[in-house]
Amino acid sequence: MPKTLEAVEVVVVGTGATGSLVAAVLAEAGKNVLVLEGGHARKLTDLYSSQTWARRLKWAAPEVFGAGPDSIWFNFNAGHGYGGAAVHHYAVWPRFHEDDFHEKTQFGRSLDWPFEYSELRPYYDMVQKEVGMSGDAEKEIWRPAGDPYPLPPVLVSNHGKVLARGFEALGMHTSPIPMAILSQPYNGRPACIWDGWCDAGCPIGALANPLAVYLPRAEKAGAKLRPDAHVTRVLMDSTGKKATGVEYFSPAGESFIQPADKVVLCAFTVENARILLNSADAKNPNGVANSSGTLGQYLMCHPAVGINGLFDDDMQNFLGATGGQLLCQDAFGKTSDPGGAFGSRQWEIGLALKPNDLLGIAMSRPDIFGAELHGFMQDGAHHMGSMVGVCEDEALPENRIELSSEKDPFGYPLAKVVYKAGADGVKLWQTAAAEGVKIFQAAGAREAWHGPQGGQHIMGGTIMGADPAKSVLDSTGRAHDVPNLFVAGPGVFPSSSAANSTFTAKAMAMKSVRFMLGNWGA
Ligand SMILES: Cc1cc2nc3c(=O)[nH]c(=O)nc-3n(C[C@H](O)[C@H](O)[C@H](O)COP(=O)(O)OP(=O)(O)OC[C@H]3O[C@@H](n4cnc5c(N)ncnc54)[C@H](O)[C@@H]3O)c2cc1C
Ligand code: SF4
Repeated sequence: MPKTLEAVEVVVVGTGATGSLVAAVLAEAGKNVLVLEGGHARKLTDLYSSQTWARRLKWAAPEVFGAGPDSIWFNFNAGHGYGGAAVHHYAVWPRFHEDDFHEKTQFGRSLDWPFEYSELRPYYDMVQKEVGMSGDAEKEIWRPAGDPYPLPPVLVSNHGKVLARGFEALGMHTSPIPMAILSQPYNGRPACIWDGWCDAGCPIGALANPLAVYLPRAEKAGAKLRPDAHVTRVLMDSTGKKATGVEYFSPAGESFIQPADKVVLCAFTVENARILLNSADAKNPNGVANSSGTLGQYLMCHPAVGINGLFDDDMQNFLGATGGQLLCQDAFGKTSDPGGAFGSRQWEIGLALKPNDLLGIAMSRPDIFGAELHGFMQDGAHHMGSMVGVCEDEALPENRIELSSEKDPFGYPLAKVVYKAGADGVKLWQTAAAEGVKIFQAAGAREAWHGPQGGQHIMGGTIMGADPAKSVLDSTGRAHDVPNLFVAGPGVFPSSSAANSTFTAKAMAMKSVRFMLGNWGA
């Protein structure tokens, strides 16, 4: 028998990028907030700048099965425990552009958001001030309207300067990359020391991960955090239209019922959809918040390509942040692809390199071993350059999160992801791969190559929309079917842009939470 606990006003599920923000803002407004986190507790001082440590931050369980021809790189893209994926995210935070919000209306592709950029802009401005973003709004010539960044840009080492040469030679533009990393001390947090350990979590708190900004704020304001509490279902009343709380399990298998007036799911894209699908009951036979049948659909993942090259220059490639130094969004126009593919692209330029590990020097040439690898490492440590191209993925209903026939230890079906990268996204990726090598050659690389197609940022599955018959959530992130149930995170996006997802997910979470506070009794 599950144990029923004392009721709270709001239960937030997940302590990552969005859960931490939601908890902080609600607790600071005086609400009684409980945050349930499926993984372990950790503090900023528990982080270590080591690749072995970085592995501990990856997704732990439950397993997510892949069932389509392409992978969404779930284990690379997800995180577990306090801070979620956001603990080891790289903090590249460009805004979505105006076009991203109305692709269906303007181009007949993907889906429209239920509002325009102008409605999200104040929340971008609010969040960038709270976390202390670094950048140069004027030099970022593609950026939509917004307040200037509170801090000057992040470091540009020789790595960025050499690669910028290639863009310039081809008539392309670069700007400082917008980052949620402190270029100067800010609100009691220290400035970045440019040691490139962001992938292991930034132990000094210069990167705005949840352990550095919103979780401390949430706890200070009285929110309670409960780790090792794996949420399995949203519980509903007999009308099937009101959430009464959630069910969760401890690692030992004890089950609990946590009653709450409001439920906010922030358990990342796949797990949010899985929880809602697993919450099916007599009144909601296809899952909670799924009268439209779109729950789980429109899963998206940016096709990404890594470009590497060797230069005669001393690249200082060990310096800087993991996410890069410069940005190029010259190909952000939805119809700018020379081959006619639909969608936007961007370059993140000058990623700080480590000798090994996932994005390290050795992994850029997985085909060489022994003496050849030894020579390559000596060369690469001083002379390798690196950048990543990110491409838009079209929102397609056939790409989806479903329930598998396999079950977790608590008896609930695991998630199964059916995914095939959109044809246009693949074409954009091909253009990017060829263009990237050309840029490196124009920058003076004596050798340049690209890696295989990867996936960055997982979006969709619990999409917002104006029409309750075609979407899961309304324009505030609230379930059309269940007025006291909200979802936050990149899973709410109806289209993917080519911009990294976290700034937009945070801005949207801020919009949701402000709406909640303004309509508390409704
Ligand atoms: C290596 C890496 C680099 C990245 N770089 C960037 C970048 O540069 N820019 C960018 O914009 N984005 C980046 N991202 C993506 C970014 O981290 C995510 O978009 C963001 O963290 C998603 O926020 P979220 O709140 O939805 O999920 P998360 O931050 O992942 O938080 C989800 C939380 O929910 C918990 N949880 C899951 N299931 C349950 C459950 N059933 N019960 C209770 N708790 C549960 C998880 O343990 C986790 O703590 C990167 C991600 C990775 C992994
Ligand atoms: S490079 Fe900067 S943000 Fe990244 S881990 Fe080091 S100090 Fe932190």
